[in-house]
Amino acid sequence: MAEVNEQRLVDRFLQMVRIDSPSSHEREIADYLRQELESLGFEVEEDDAGRDLLQMLGDMRGAETIRFAGNLIARKKGTVHQAAPILFAAHMDTVVSNKGVVAKVEEGVIRTDGRTILGADDKAGIAAMLEAAHVLREHQLPHGDLEYVFTIAEETGLNGSRLLDKKKLRAKFGFVMDSGGPPHVVIGASPTEIDFTIKIYGKAAHSGVNPEDGISAIAAAGLGISHVRMGRIDEETTVNIGVIKGGERTNIVCDYVEMWGEARSRNEDKLAAQLSGIQSAFAMACEKFGARFEMEEQKIYSGFNLSEDDDVVRLAFAGVRKAGMNPELAARGGGSDTNILNEAGIPSVNLGVGASNDHTSQESVTVQDLVNATKLVLGIIESVVERVPAGVRA
Ligand SMILES: [Zn+2]
Repeated sequence: MAEVNEQRLVDRFLQMVRIDSPSSHEREIADYLRQELESLGFEVEEDDAGRDLLQMLGDMRGAETIRFAGNLIARKKGTVHQAAPILFAAHMDTVVSNKGVVAKVEEGVIRTDGRTILGADDKAGIAAMLEAAHVLREHQLPHGDLEYVFTIAEETGLNGSRLLDKKKLRAKFGFVMDSGGPPHVVIGASPTEIDFTIKIYGKAAHSGVNPEDGISAIAAAGLGISHVRMGRIDEETTVNIGVIKGGERTNIVCDYVEMWGEARSRNEDKLAAQLSGIQSAFAMACEKFGARFEMEEQKIYSGFNLSEDDDVVRLAFAGVRKAGMNPELAARGGGSDTNILNEAGIPSVNLGVGASNDHTSQESVTVQDLVNATKLVLGIIESVVERVPAGVRA
């Protein structure tokens, strides 16, 4: 495999983490990427997802001063036309601002001074993709059509990939560079997530004078919750009620409680069973107190479940081996842009870029993992080319 330029890779990574890019403020990193990609021979298109998202959130106030951007789709024409078109994706936004970041490399580990996040999630993924493109060009390596997708607002609920017009993509397979694990771990499964809101309606009354005329929504909520199994239900299923609100004063029987929760599972039947269990728990509790309730559900993203027999996993495994590592297939409990791509019919896996303790000021990434993630991108590109018999490559 062609040499990865470690210094250039680390320098570019450090340059990118110094660009502040919290969700919906990706303008500066998008401009930086456009310039880099164009100099690497990509054609770059930016969509309207940034504006659409602000409009959706009803937050156009000061939109002119919010330095938002759209998703970037960058395309590089292949030199091997029979090779399947593939895409690599990473998100441009970071979970919070890292303004004033001081990042340093010490004994092969890159971290901050502990005052801000590093932003390796997901700039490590972006750095690996850019360095791979650099190596491709430098050594004139053969490759098929490539799409590089850089999304916005991933950290606020996969908004960029959701708003991306997937019909614009030609890729047959997707490789998302955004898993916290080491680069030899291929994430082939992720749950479906359903969020729910439960509203319990009781009846207000004076708590000291005539409490018997009231119906406590808090009492009904409490009984219901005590019959909901929460936390890890099994290996592929979790449930959480994360927010509960209600009541105004100690001397009023509370007439309204609202709860927000979520259920996730890689098994649709188990997911449905959990949600109907929650429904029955509150139905029973409300009946007991004479309260009334409503439960609304909203699908946040669909899960996916790939095996070693799926082509996209095979290609990822071949890439991991070419990068000199032993591949491992794993599942993950969170959602990522990978869920949205799979939902859109592009079989995709999430690949490790080695960022650890992400979303905290202790976040770090090793130089070795950055190099390995780059080799992985190159390895996948090479594996796709190798599927085309040598005699017919053109
Ligand atoms: Zn991420």
